[in-house]
Amino acid sequence: MTMHEDRRDLRRLLNRVAEAAADFQDGLDDRPAQARQRALDKGGDIPSRGIGAEGALDAVLTRFAPHMSASAGPRYLGFVTGGTTPAALLGDWLAGSFDQNTASPGDSIGVAVTVQALDWLKQLFGLPSEAFDGAFTTGATGANFACLLAAREWAGEGAGYDIAKRGLAGGPPIAIYSACPHASFVKVARFSGLGQDSIRPVARIGDTEEMDAAALEAALEAAPEDERKIVCASAGTVTTTAFDNLPAIAAICKRHGAWLHVDGAFGLFARAVPELAGRVAGVELADSIASDGHKWLNVPYDCGFYVTRRIDLVEHAAGALPAYLDVAGDGLPHYINRVLEGSQRFRGLPVWMTLAAHGAEGVRRIVRDNVRQATALSTWIDGSSNYELLAPTTLNVVCFRATPPEGIADADSWNDAVLDTLNAAGDVFMTPGAYGGKKGFRAAFSNWSTQDEDMPKIFAALDMAYQSAKTAKEAEPA
Ligand SMILES: *Cc1c(COP(=O)(O)O)cnc(C)c1O
Repeated sequence: MTMHEDRRDLRRLLNRVAEAAADFQDGLDDRPAQARQRALDKGGDIPSRGIGAEGALDAVLTRFAPHMSASAGPRYLGFVTGGTTPAALLGDWLAGSFDQNTASPGDSIGVAVTVQALDWLKQLFGLPSEAFDGAFTTGATGANFACLLAAREWAGEGAGYDIAKRGLAGGPPIAIYSACPHASFVKVARFSGLGQDSIRPVARIGDTEEMDAAALEAALEAAPEDERKIVCASAGTVTTTAFDNLPAIAAICKRHGAWLHVDGAFGLFARAVPELAGRVAGVELADSIASDGHKWLNVPYDCGFYVTRRIDLVEHAAGALPAYLDVAGDGLPHYINRVLEGSQRFRGLPVWMTLAAHGAEGVRRIVRDNVRQATALSTWIDGSSNYELLAPTTLNVVCFRATPPEGIADADSWNDAVLDTLNAAGDVFMTPGAYGGKKGFRAAFSNWSTQDEDMPKIFAALDMAYQSAKTAKEAEPA
C-alpha cells in the first residue's frame, strides 16, 4: 500500500476512525479507569515494508484500543485530569487535519484564531486584554517556563544586564520566593538556569499550604538590596487546593519591587465562577500567570497557556526569528518567539471550538458540577468509618486516607494497599497524596462528564476496595 493509495481511500478510512472514536467515547463509562494490560508484549523490529494505513488502523484497534484507560471518563479522579468536550475533540481532529503550523502568521487564518481563543480565555478570567498577552503551550509546565523566562529577563533588565544574551553568570543575584511551588515550577527553576536552590521557601499559614504573607514580607525585607526578587504564588495547590492571598502578596511585591508570578493551572478556573472568584481575587495584579487547557477546560492533551504584562521580555528571551521565517505578520504575533517550541500545533482551535460551543456558561457549569461532586465525596468520607479526610475540601480535590483496621500499625502501607486495590478494580482511579506527614489518596474532580449519579459508584468502589484489602491482609501469614 502506498501513501497515494491510502490517500485515495482516505474518506472511508476516516469514517472508520470516526466509528472507532465514537465507540470509544460511548464506552468510557464502562471501560476500566485503569487498563489491566499496560506493557507491549512484543517489541519487534521496524517493518521494512508497511501494512498500509488500514492494516495499521486494524492493529491499533485490536492490539492497543482495548488497553486504553478511561482517563477521559467520568470516574477517573487521578492527578488533575480533564476529559475532552465533544466540541474540543472535533477541534482537535480538525487541528490534525488542517495541519497548520501556528508558529508564525502569514499563510493562514490560524494565528488569528489562536489570538481570539486566548483573548476569550482572558475575558473568561477577567484579565484585561490590553495589559496581558501570551501564548498556548504544551501545558502548565511550559506556561510556567515561559513566565519564569519573562521574570528572569526582568531581573536582568533591572540590573542593566541582558541575561538571555550574556547568560546568568555575571548577572544580578536572583531569588524566587514561594510557599508551595508545584513540582513543575521546581522543574522550570532547574531548567531555566536559575536553579532549584534559588527557590527560597516562604512559611505557610499554620498547617495549610497557603503562603504566610507576613513571612513573605519579612523575607523580602531581610533579602540583600541588590537581589532581584521573583515571587511564585499559588492559585490552587494540587493537594489541598490552597490559594495564596494574592491582593496582599501583590501589594508586598509592589512595595519590594518584586515580580509576581501566579501558578493557576486549574485554580484560575475558580475565577470564572462568581461564587468562587473571590479566591482568585488579585490575580489580575500579577506580572505573569500560568494555566492549563487540558485540565479544567477539558480540551484534549496537550494544551496550556500563559499571559504576562511583559510579553516583550518573553519575546526577548525566546526570540529566534531567522530571516527565512520572518514573514509579514499582518499585525499578528509570531508565537515562535513566545514559547520553547518552534513549529507549533494549532492548539487554539480545540479551545476556540469548546468556547464557541459552550461559552463561558459551559465552563462555569463544569467547575460548579465538579466542586459539588468533591463536596459530596468529602461529606461521605466524614460519615464513613473506613476513611477520613486529611484536609478540608475547599474546591475540586479531596485529600483523604483509609483508616487502618485493628491490628494494622503501618497506616501508610495500608493506604498504598487500599489504593492499589481500588485502582485495580477499575471503577474509579485515584492517585496518592500526602498531607501532614500522612499518606493517603487524592480524588480530583475535573471532568465535564462526571455526573452526580457517579457518586454512589465512587462510594461503593471505595468501600469494596477497603473490604478486599482487609480480607487480603487477614489472609496473609502472620
Ligand atoms: C498540573 C499542574 C502543573 C503542571 O501542568 P502540566 O499541564 O502537567 O504541565 C503546574 N502547576 C499546577 C498547580 C498544576 O496543577
